[in-house]
Amino acid sequence: MSNFLADNLTEILNSIPKHVTLVAVSKTKPIENIQNLYDVGQRIFGENRVQELEEKHQALPKDIQWHLIGHLQRNKVKYIAPFVALIHSIDSERLLDEVNIQAKKNDRKIKVLLQFYIAQEETKFGFDIEETKELFTRKSPEKFDSIEFCGVMGMASFSNDENQVRKEFKNLKVIFDQLKSTYFSNSPSFSEISMGMSGDYQLAIEEGSTMVRVGSSLFGKR
Ligand SMILES: *Cc1c(COP(=O)(O)O)cnc(C)c1O
Repeated sequence: MSNFLADNLTEILNSIPKHVTLVAVSKTKPIENIQNLYDVGQRIFGENRVQELEEKHQALPKDIQWHLIGHLQRNKVKYIAPFVALIHSIDSERLLDEVNIQAKKNDRKIKVLLQFYIAQEETKFGFDIEETKELFTRKSPEKFDSIEFCGVMGMASFSNDENQVRKEFKNLKVIFDQLKSTYFSNSPSFSEISMGMSGDYQLAIEEGSTMVRVGSSLFGKR
């Protein structure tokens, strides 16, 4: 079992360029699987539920960098604020406000990505570009003084139509470039484009992804 996971990890790491960060998406997978990958060097893991993230953080080595990749409710921010390494799923101003408050309470800065709605499906969370322009024109990013804005995140449609998926990734890259040049040109940390999952990460990398979130190709089917 552990060999199987380590082999998958090696294969995936060999298939992505050095400048692209691999987030190992461990949602629903047991502690032992995560420990196996930790033992061969993986340090960044992604979860989509707060409670599961908390439990795994408690049980596993403390130098793991935990990323929250799923929808986050404001009333749960406090549970992850002490330790979360990066929140990929900031999708409203109210959530941003709450993360800022909880970060301050914990005397730290919390790193976040702004999630954008790029898919055709109705179910995906996220900002659209106009909303964020309105937000940052009214309230500049520096006003969120306990937040470190690190870039953008998006999920493409679940589709076999490669052109459609590519178009959506291109769109997220355009959004990133616009925000970078308008609001974050003096923020070196605003540098990440989190896009690409098991089925589409190669495409995402071709379109400028700097961070891929891979679950099933690594751990097996959920
Ligand atoms: C589950 C999940 C992934 C990983 O999906 P796979 O297809 O298993 O690689 C990536 N991003 C988000 C937001 C997810 O919820």
